[in-house]
Amino acid sequence: MNYRHAYHAGNFADVMKHMVLVALLDAMKQKATPFCYIETHAGSGRYDLRSVHARKTAEADDGVARLKTATGLPPLLWKWLDVVRACNEGDEAFRYYPGSPWIAAHLMRPTDSAQLCELHTEEAGKLRQLFHHDARIHVHNRDGYEAMKALVPPKEKRGLVLIDPPFEQQDAEFRTIEKALKAAMERWPTGIFAVWYPIKVRSHVQPFHRWLAKSGAKRVLAAELLLHKDDSPLRLNGTGMVIVNAPWKLDDALRDGLKMLPKLLGEPGEAEYRLTWLVEEGKDPTPVHV
Ligand code: SAM
Repeated sequence: MNYRHAYHAGNFADVMKHMVLVALLDAMKQKATPFCYIETHAGSGRYDLRSVHARKTAEADDGVARLKTATGLPPLLWKWLDVVRACNEGDEAFRYYPGSPWIAAHLMRPTDSAQLCELHTEEAGKLRQLFHHDARIHVHNRDGYEAMKALVPPKEKRGLVLIDPPFEQQDAEFRTIEKALKAAMERWPTGIFAVWYPIKVRSHVQPFHRWLAKSGAKRVLAAELLLHKDDSPLRLNGTGMVIVNAPWKLDDALRDGLKMLPKLLGEPGEAEYRLTWLVEEGKDPTPVHV
């Protein structure tokens, strides 16, 4: 387990993933009843962009740094940027980058709760330290896939699971996700599951999309940001999220923000976004071609 998110925090994939997360949390708050936020791969919760790790790759320079002075942003991107600002307590230099647990904790209400899983002991320790004062949040230093079996359905019966693995071995991680998702969806058919994935070569992603299309889920939305052609296994060409049991009108909530990301984070004429229903209620699943 070599992956450390500190090397990648605030990169273009984080911007897109966390923008989607803000939209999902917004949707959860449409109802007054409490919800539970579950993360299988939580990381350490907050990242210092001046750390040796972050400076070594400087990935945030082509991610969050490009947006901090941007103008004319759609409301969803503003909302995410407000969370980044809150994480920096007024420091306009944006030294810190909020990971998904920090974003969720910031946007959750006093009655909502969170279950955060992180396998790496040091990262889990940082996460625990970050939220030690927050009784809504529970940190588990354990395998997130294993933990998910025990954590769903949550007692609230409403909730959102974020699955955001390191993808150290691409194909193997997709198969592990499928197995874990199948078990979780059987236990909790109405749960909302959001899965992040990297896009290097399209043919690695298609079997996962095909599996989702046949999974029995009634609504599966896929949002993707492609900075380069998806034809090289050697670099991260794009980033995607699929949302199983996507909330009502999530596609509308995401569209303007997603549409703007290629302009903000990519090179003109090269970057693009996609927003597609892999499964739409009452319709046959969208065919996914090889
Ligand atoms: N979700 C975080 C965010 O957006 O801020 C980033 C998570 S990072 C991509 C993936 C994390 O998963 C790493 O911190 C890694 O240590 C952890 N990890 C790897 N395998 C795991 C497993 N089987 N269960 C739980 N955590 C795991």
